[in-house]
Amino acid sequence: MAAFPTADELARQTRDVLGRLGVRLDDVAAADGDLVARSAVTGQELARLRAHTPAEAAGIIDAAHQAFLRWRAVPAPVRGQLVREFADLLREHKADLGELVSIEAGKIRSEGLGEVQEMIDICEFALGLSRQLYGLTIASERPGHRMMEQWHPLGVVGVISAFNFPVAVWSWNTALALVCGDTVVWKPSHKTMLTALACQALLARAAAKAGAPEALSALLLGSGSAVGNALVESPRVPLISATGSTRMGQTIAPKIAARFGRFIGELGGNNAAIVTESADLDLAVRGIVFSAAGTAGQRCTTLRRVIAHESIADELAARIAAAYSSLPVGSPLADDTLVGPLIDAAAHAEFAAALDAARADGGEVLAGGERVLADTAPDAYYVRPALVGMPAQTAIVRTETFAPILYLLRYSDFDDALALHNAVPQGLSSSIFTLNLREAELFLGPQGSDCGIANVNIGPSGAEIGGAFGGEKETGGGRESGSDAWKAYMRRATNTINYSTELPLAQGVEFV
Ligand code: NAD
Repeated sequence: MAAFPTADELARQTRDVLGRLGVRLDDVAAADGDLVARSAVTGQELARLRAHTPAEAAGIIDAAHQAFLRWRAVPAPVRGQLVREFADLLREHKADLGELVSIEAGKIRSEGLGEVQEMIDICEFALGLSRQLYGLTIASERPGHRMMEQWHPLGVVGVISAFNFPVAVWSWNTALALVCGDTVVWKPSHKTMLTALACQALLARAAAKAGAPEALSALLLGSGSAVGNALVESPRVPLISATGSTRMGQTIAPKIAARFGRFIGELGGNNAAIVTESADLDLAVRGIVFSAAGTAGQRCTTLRRVIAHESIADELAARIAAAYSSLPVGSPLADDTLVGPLIDAAAHAEFAAALDAARADGGEVLAGGERVLADTAPDAYYVRPALVGMPAQTAIVRTETFAPILYLLRYSDFDDALALHNAVPQGLSSSIFTLNLREAELFLGPQGSDCGIANVNIGPSGAEIGGAFGGEKETGGGRESGSDAWKAYMRRATNTINYSTELPLAQGVEFV
């Protein structure tokens, strides 16, 4: 296929790949549907789908709750077998699902495939976890007594996801939730509904094979608050795991708190790298270019600020600018492309407005910043990643613009660099490039980076599933994926058992 497919070719390719993933487009599409599935590659409409009504959403949540009542009684290692079946299907369909991610969300091929690999990885993690949902045994102060903790399934987990990780984020939540004995209702972004339908179809096949209840995973389609509210406000959904903008988190978190629901907030980031005098600049440039320009700047962990020591700032800027000028921007379906499209026209408008605001604040665009390929793909939005030298960390630098803009700031004193680093409202990911042990340890220590993720000599993006993922401040405070993030998906019960013939009270209290 040509690097830029024609509209007909892309429509056919989408239909074929969906078919292989178990979704017949004719069965799910509705000509009068109020939701439009588009391809970021060309901007063309791929299908129309019908949004669920609030009443339908309530029915879906109820069915997931009924499925939970059965699923929670299945032993955890047996629940793990469902996740194993799902991982097998993902391996079989890795190329298909990766391609669909590229078609719909516009990720380059290797990143589309990388998302599916991340799904496989979290399934493996969850399978192991299904035999390791350990509680503690605790020494009791009372003779003839034993204390312990147990972890029990929680209920229906509501997953709200963003367009930019259309499949991986759902799988982080779903693989853990399923082995923890929960069921899942997923509201994907209305910009990536086809990948959601494909994931749901694969999981339904795995559930059938594993003999698990079909309703343990369900989709809610809709564009934002209408159908999202059904999840957010339902007392039947004890945990909402929401990935998206800080604005979305600010809207839903108070509603969840009002009913004492749990909230995993995975919200906006404004990630920085400090590049010190001693940094290995070859390494730094590679790490910076991948983190800042990769995924066309549309990762929550995208590098948005470089804070460079004044002694190396000019050389660093020149080397990043040179790398940017040779980055292949184009169709994400072409093998040699490294920068695909922005998701839509609104994203492009925000990119252009942010560059105007930076210029108004005294910033100088040192590389990129222009729209390209407008003749070849007039309804899609391709840009050259921008590098902007800034005189200060102004309001636009403190704002997350979900597009490839990298602001360059300078420092002379390391403490000032740390202060600048932390002086933004978001707290997701961070990094330092240095060969100085003291600087590296200070950055990782309690007076260093205030982010949930802090790295040394790699950029802030590209996390592995083994660690807990999430951030502080306006990023929402949630943690998901690896480490002990599973605990958020279960309820903890503390049990005290008296095997004596006496009834001593704690703290030596006497009563009758
Ligand atoms: P978005 O906030 O526009 O939408 C995210 C999801 O929230 C969508 O499914 C949307 O329909 C839903 N939503 C929006 N308003 C809602 C409401 N009132 N009630 C219920 N649901 C609602 O975000 P986006 O443009 O899809 O994604 C980009 C944003 O997501 C960026 O800010 C990025 O940093 C963030 N993000 C964060 C992480 C993370 O792990 N921290 C990961 C990926 C993306």
